[in-house]
Amino acid sequence: MPTTITLVRADITTQQVDAVVNAANSSLLGGGGVDGAIHRAGGPAILEACRRLRDTAYPGGLPTGGAVATAAGLLPARHVIHVVGPVYRRDEDRSALLRSCYVEALRVADELEARTVAFPAVSAGAYGWPLADAARIAVTTVHETASSLTEARFVLFDDRALRAFESAH
Ligand code: ADP
Repeated sequence: MPTTITLVRADITTQQVDAVVNAANSSLLGGGGVDGAIHRAGGPAILEACRRLRDTAYPGGLPTGGAVATAAGLLPARHVIHVVGPVYRRDEDRSALLRSCYVEALRVADELEARTVAFPAVSAGAYGWPLADAARIAVTTVHETASSLTEARFVLFDDRALRAFESAH
């Protein structure tokens, strides 16, 4: 079955999906934006799982463009898939790393047998990626990457982000 891409304006922590994607940072130990919201709403279980990952698989942190799953604590979702988006640089094309976040998140989602996944606009907040370009990369990458998802839901926090994704869709 093909993946349906849907766009909603909402807080990603409220989403009833199998997995939510977190725009984390390499430390996996929390931050602002989506990351802060997910840790606040999901409670300490997510941070504990992240700390275990740092102690075992990722002592140096999760690399940019990578993805790894933890439990979702108190969130309605079952899993959180943490990705590390690239910081935007005008003098360097880092779009392969942003694409990698979505490809790797889909790969992890398939491993988890997740069928519905909510994505934020990775890198489009504190990491400074221009919204229209972040939206285009997100939508085309999810569209072009084979997976077992039935729904890939982009969850946009404000009207500006929603409009950018509507234009890219
Ligand atoms: P990054 O560091 O990868 O740029 P941010 O979390 O700073 O990640 O921002 C990514 C996008 O997520 C921005 O468009 C921001 O407005 C949006 N955002 C922030 N909080 C939430 C939330 N609770 N749900 C959905 N999107 C959010």
